[in-house]
This record gives sequence, C-alpha cells and structure tokens, in this order.
Amino acid sequence: MNNCQLCNKIIPMGEKFATLDYNIETMKQDIDGLSVEVISSETIYKLCIYCAAENNQHETRQFLKRIISQSNGRSN
Ligand SMILES: [Zn+2]
Repeated sequence: MNNCQLCNKIIPMGEKFATLDYNIETMKQDIDGLSVEVISSETIYKLCIYCAAENNQHETRQFLKRIISQSNGRSN
C-alpha cells in the first residue's frame, strides 16, 4: 500500500508524491562526461503531494543537516 507517512492517506496510482531517499552512489568521468551510478536507494520518508506542499524544505534540510552533523560527532 502506498500511503503518506505523515497524514496516512492512500496515494492513488498516477498521483504525484515526494520522497526523502538515502542513496549510495559513485561518480565517474569519461569521454561522455560526468555520470552518477546509484548503487542502492532506500526511501526513508514518503509524503503525499498535499503534505509535501505544506512542508518547508529549507527547514527540513537544516534539521537533517543538524542530525547528520551530530551523528558524526560535530556540534554544528
Ligand atoms: Zn499526506
């Protein structure tokens, strides 16, 4: 079942939704230019388009940066 993890509403087939994903990637540069290969991708949070529209992306980004910094032992 494809549900929004914030409001729990079912996200119908064909309707837009937003995800926060954790990707492991490698970057390569060859004659065709720069390319990125995604080794693995895990969706850590899924939002319906209505909850996504209400979400303040700047605030979410700052919050995630703080969490990741703390897990690395840094204070800011
Ligand atoms: Zn929602």
